[in-house]
Formats: sequence, C-alpha cells, structure tokens
Amino acid sequence: MNEPRPIQRLLIANRGEIAVRIARAAREAGIVPLGVYSDADAQAYHLGFMDEAARLGPAPASESYLSVERLLEAARALRADALHPGYGFLSERAPFARAVEAAGIVFVGPPADAIAAMGDKTEAKRRAREHDVPVVPGYDGDDQSAEHLEREARGIGTPVLIKASAGGGGRGMRVVTDLGEFDEALEGAKREALAAFGDDRVLLEKYLVRPRHIEFQILADAHGNTIHLGERECSIQRRHQKIIEEAPSVALTPELRARMGDAAIRAARSVGYVNAGTVEFLLDEDGAFYFLEMNARLQVEHPVTELVHGVDLVRLQFQIASGERLHLKQSDVSARGWAVETRINAEDPYNGYLPASGTITRWDPPHADGLRLDSGVDVGSEVSIYYDSMLAKLIAHGPGRAAAIERLTQGLEALRIEGVRTNLPLLLRIARDPVFREGVTTTAFLTERAEFLQTGAAAESDDAFLAAIGAALGGPGAWRVAGVGIPVALRGARRTVRVVAFRTGASNEWRLEGDLAGTYRFAPNARAAVGPSGVALFHEGEVLLFESAPPPNLMGTGSSSGAGRGGAIVSPMPGKIVKVAVKTGDSVAERELLIVMEAMKMEHRIEATRSGTVKSVAVAPGALVASGAILVEIE
Ligand code: ADP
Repeated sequence: MNEPRPIQRLLIANRGEIAVRIARAAREAGIVPLGVYSDADAQAYHLGFMDEAARLGPAPASESYLSVERLLEAARALRADALHPGYGFLSERAPFARAVEAAGIVFVGPPADAIAAMGDKTEAKRRAREHDVPVVPGYDGDDQSAEHLEREARGIGTPVLIKASAGGGGRGMRVVTDLGEFDEALEGAKREALAAFGDDRVLLEKYLVRPRHIEFQILADAHGNTIHLGERECSIQRRHQKIIEEAPSVALTPELRARMGDAAIRAARSVGYVNAGTVEFLLDEDGAFYFLEMNARLQVEHPVTELVHGVDLVRLQFQIASGERLHLKQSDVSARGWAVETRINAEDPYNGYLPASGTITRWDPPHADGLRLDSGVDVGSEVSIYYDSMLAKLIAHGPGRAAAIERLTQGLEALRIEGVRTNLPLLLRIARDPVFREGVTTTAFLTERAEFLQTGAAAESDDAFLAAIGAALGGPGAWRVAGVGIPVALRGARRTVRVVAFRTGASNEWRLEGDLAGTYRFAPNARAAVGPSGVALFHEGEVLLFESAPPPNLMGTGSSSGAGRGGAIVSPMPGKIVKVAVKTGDSVAERELLIVMEAMKMEHRIEATRSGTVKSVAVAPGALVASGAILVEIE
C-alpha cells in the first residue's frame, strides 16, 4: 500500500438517513459531502446536508440510485475523489466497486473481489468452511436439479430452509416443514431469486427453530490488521428482516464472544477483507454457532456498536479507505454499557407490513440523554413507494440493558409522527414487553407472539378513550361554566363510549358519569387535536381517530333525554332555561349546542342529535320546563 491518500470530496451514492449520517461524518473529518438525487428526491431531506448535489435521473431506482453510469457521471461532475455507497442499492455489487476504482475514485468499502466472494452465500459458506468457521449444516453444491435438491433436503430433515445463493433482505427464502411441499417451495424460491437478483441458484440449510441472530463488526485495514468490535444481537425480526438490534448480547459469555469473534476474523481474512464489514452467525439454543454470511458494507444497525465502543465507524471507513493503519488493537476493545436500536419504518405492522406512503405532517423527535435519532426525513418529507420504507432509527444508550431499553421506550413514546403510517406501535409493544426485557429474544419472537400483530388494542383501551375525552373537554367546543354537565360521546373502531363530564372544582379535575364513570385529572394534552368531527389522538405510537357520536343521555335515565323523538329535542328533566343558542331558521350540525338548562343546581348542555334546520324554538331564557317538554324542533 502506498502513502495514505486523504479523501477531500466524497460522493455519497445513497439517500435517506444513511446519506445524512455519512455526510455528518464527512464534514467532521473535513471532507466535502456531495449528494445525489432522483427526481422523486429533488427536495429530499438528505440534500440539506450536502455541499453540492447532482441529479441522477427519474424516480425508479434502476434509473437513478442503481445506475452505475449515472453515479460515475455525478462523481465526475462534482469532482469527487472518493465514493461511499452506504448500504442497499449498489453497496454490495462488485462490478460497481470495480468501476469506481477504475475511474480513479476511492471506493469507501471493501475490495471488489471480497464483495464478490461474500456476495454469494454458497461461495461464502465454502470459504468459511475451509477456514474452520462452522456453517449451518445443509447443501451448497452445484447440482441444482429439483430431484437432487429434494434428495438432499430429505437427508437434512425438516424443517429445511431453501435460500437464494445471491439472496439478501430475506428474499428468495422458503421454510419447508413438509417435504411434500418441497417442489412448490423450491419453485417459489427460485422465481423470487431470479426476479430479485437475476440468479436462481439456491442452497439448503437445516432450519434452526429458535436461534439468535448474532453478528460481529469487523474492521480491517490494508496493512493486514483485522479486528472485531464485538457483537450485535439482531434477533427481533419480521419476515427475516431486523427491526430491533442491540449491543452487546445477553447470550454471550466472554469465552463465547472470544470464540465467535475469532471465527468472524477468520471468515473476513478468508476473502482478504478490507474496511468495515459484518460477519453474521446464528447461535442455536444449545450454544452452537454457525456462520450465515458476511455483509461487505456498513450496516443499518452500526450505531449500537458505535455507542458501546465510542467510535465513529464511518470515520474509520474513511481512514481505512485512504490507506491509514488501524490504531485500535483487539485488546483495547471492550463494550461500555448497552445500546438498543429500533428501525422506524413507514409500514403497517397490522396489515402484512404493507409499505405506507404519504407526506409527513408532523415529526417531533424526542430529546433526552442517551438517545440518538438517525433520520432521513422531516416535516414535509414525501415518503414514496420507490424506495426502502425505513424512515429513521432511534438508538438508546444506557449503563445497562434495562436502562437502555427504558430510555428507548421513553423515546418511542415521545416521538410523534403524523401523515404516514409507521411501525411505531409495534416497536413500543415490543419495547415494553417483559419477555423482551428479560432478554428472551430469538428470531421466532414475533411469530411466537402473534398478539403483537393484532391491531386495535391501543385504540379501544379505556386509557385511549379517557385521553380523547380529556382532549374533547379541553377543546374549543366545551361549555366552560362550572357545574355544566358536558356530554361527550366518542366512537372508536369497535365501541362507542358516552359520558357526561362535570368539573369538580379542583384544577383540571372532572367527574365522569356514564361508560367510564370516575374522577380524572385531564392535563392539557399536546398529543391530541380536537376538530368538529372528533378527536385525533397520538397514543402508544399510533394516530387514533375518535368520531363524535350522538350525545349521550344526560342523566342516564332512558329515552327522554336530548336524544329527541323525530326532530324534537326534549327536556331530559325539569329545570330552568339559562341560554338559548339557536333561533328558527338556523342550520345546525350534529352535536351543536342548542340550549343550556339548569336543573338540580347544575347546568346541562342540550345538543342537536342530528344536523338540520331549526324549525322552532319553544323556550326562552328564564323559562321553567317540565321533563319531556319540547325545547327545539329540527327538520
Ligand atoms: P438475507 O441475506 O436475505 O438477510 P440471511 O442468510 O442473512 O439472509 O438470513 C436472514 C435471517 O433469516 C436470519 O437472521 C435468520 O432469522 C433467518 N435464517 C437464515 N438462515 C436460517 C437458518 N438456517 N435457520 C433459521 N433461520 C435462518
């Protein structure tokens, strides 16, 4: 290796949070960050972090972020001397790395040959095996005929996993529990692999039922020094894709960490790895561990390693790429505290993780010690269907696992996103779960805990209704005279709650009668919006909508209340009219205030039970009325 060649102008060939994160590290290192964008991203958040940026092309990734040609043009136009690929897109395509180097631009990543060797699961497993790294038992031979593969599967035994050799992101994977379905699963896996990677070769692996996903962060310089920065546990996954990651792992003893770390280093060396990379393992319940694959790039979950090791991995990538030696030694490496990351995705966890799109109308990040938010969006950002659904990552660091998880939970509770659906409610439920908190985390966590994926629990809870009622009482429509009974009726997804609320005299305190009878304190709630049609509440990570329902029976005494017969609104009790809010000919909306009457020393609101025009008003202020007397007629 020649003299170190410091990077001056860095093209960041990516978008979203990772582009922002790399740009920050570049600026701190005195490197000029240069951005790229597609037409869908012309106003994107990441561009605000770049000194200059170049347009790549139309929105589809194949014509923009996946176009080698366009990226090289952008690098030339912006006079970049180095390129960071981030993750995803072209980050693990060996021909791209080769083309970048051929253009005289430093590729901030591993050598193209190492990417090629590790990009193929079959090849990677063979190399690992040759270097005494244990691999999951299975078949990774060249005979790809259906008959042969089925015979091998029979030998391995069920459950067996069919995996695309070129795979990534959980695609091209099928678990077979009944060999009678092997052929069909094989066809499916091959079809998916061909469509996603242009390569339909598969391998077979024994399917471990409750393993943990444990991976090691590798750093290797061009001078032959290879170390690991400990493990990350990424077992909480949906559809074989990670959503929560932590460092370190509760499952590793120092002895096991040392053995797995050594195996990770051997795997990296087996392909002549240079730069930052990750060696992934499955750790079975019996303590045996198996090499899965190596990711030849920076990973989404790298921040948990940064927080417990006090390093900036992107900065280290720059140093390695420019030819510097690693200053860290393996013996210097030890984790401090605990870090947990959650991926905030624009997707509906209650509906098959369907990606969501839209404009972000609210983005209030949490601010607290020990929290880091790596975000690729802000208020006004468009979340399109073109790219990955990950919006941001919330990472918490604490002195121990419990403290880190508590910080994370509070951060998730405080984070407020509106305008696009996210997986925040699911993340919150996991973060609060006692089993998760105990550290009983395996890759089967979400499939074993189907209750996490059921919707509506938050929406229908008494707490949610009470928060919405509190907001409605604090809203502009509420009648504020002491002693007035204010009817509130809200319709959730599965039930309607009707109460009449009375101020007790103590500040913010209300006594409710009806479905949720009791005395409550309702502090002003910044997480709710009250409108004419109901209350929108940000609760447990979800935006819940409660519609105004026809008003309740004021005294809870049967049908004679404001719920009128025909168009007539009748007095629910004997009393005195205090105020008449409408006159003949007025048009009124459902729930609009008609009359305030006093009865039993308290004032009560009489509201319209439906919209219409006021046909007649039968009473005037000061009038005494009997129970059942017609007050107003609406037609
Ligand atoms: P990809 O490259 O598509 O992400 P990986 O090989 O990295 O695929 O595996 C992703 C996830 O799939 C793992 O973290 C694990 O949950 C699951 N998985 C992969 N191989 C096995 C196996 N042999 N047994 C059980 N689960 C597996």
